[in-house]
Amino acid sequence: MYFNRKNSFYHGVMFHHFHDNKKHLKSQGSINKATLEKLINYIGRKNIIDAADFLKRFRTNKLKKNHVCLTFDDSLKCQFDIAKPILDKFNIKAFFFVYTACLKGEPNYIEIFRYFRSTFYKNINFFYKDFFSHIKKKYNKIKIENFLDKHHNERSEWKKKFTYYSYQDINFRFIRDKFLGEKKYKIIMLDLIKKKGLNLNSLKNKFTLNKREILSLHNSGHLIGLHTHTHPFQFNNLKYLDQRKEYLTNKKILEKILKTKILSVAHPCGSYNKDTLKILNSIGVQLGFKQIMTKDGSMKKINNSKFEIAREDHSKIVKKIK
Ligand SMILES: [Zn+2]
Repeated sequence: MYFNRKNSFYHGVMFHHFHDNKKHLKSQGSINKATLEKLINYIGRKNIIDAADFLKRFRTNKLKKNHVCLTFDDSLKCQFDIAKPILDKFNIKAFFFVYTACLKGEPNYIEIFRYFRSTFYKNINFFYKDFFSHIKKKYNKIKIENFLDKHHNERSEWKKKFTYYSYQDINFRFIRDKFLGEKKYKIIMLDLIKKKGLNLNSLKNKFTLNKREILSLHNSGHLIGLHTHTHPFQFNNLKYLDQRKEYLTNKKILEKILKTKILSVAHPCGSYNKDTLKILNSIGVQLGFKQIMTKDGSMKKINNSKFEIAREDHSKIVKKIK
């Protein structure tokens, strides 16, 4: 049975984290290999199109409404260790969207912070509590509360758009992205990490794919796609030239490793603007994915353009199975 018969459009299914509770611990939204297997069976193997084929069919207008492809974001080692063997078992080739700053030796703060949140707190709400009490001390309690009140409508919009987030998730993301911004957020997180005594050096190279693993995915028929160089949370706020630099650096590094042209992209956090679409076009990208199943911004329809293909978060499909 096709899991989403009511859809009248093809789309991707989006994955991030996997756990085995040995090498890769359970964290917010992570799934294990058994769940991935169930999900593939639920979608139906025959509805899942291999990445290269999906791209080819897209270009020749041969995708059907029941077709989906599997996509893995953020170049995570847990995908290589846990998801890849299942993909092999079903002989499925997927898209892997890779950002490259960590290959240049930069600490992967996104994953370090995530690990910290899920390892040093009993559950995510304890982390949110610590986070909010810290920023309320640092920036004045009233100021934070007023900021959230003032943007009540915008937060409700986010909740509608990202139904898989709880209200606490939304508030956290809202403060992180709209109030703090990337630099101040990093300082806050490093404050909390220091307070709990976590040693950052011990986490280097723990979370993301190395060159050998990226090449191995490519050599076994998976498609490696762009995801920017540093994965900014709000890519759409970057100036044209900064956006261009992000994608060109990302592309250059991947093409050097793989010795082939990179033709696909997933927007980091689904974030892009008109400039981004121009840039992607000018550097020869042929297919790009969003991270939602609805229209937003200036879109006239779902799968509005070659760089605005819909994706369903795996968690929403998992919920339908249980
Ligand atoms: Zn991402």
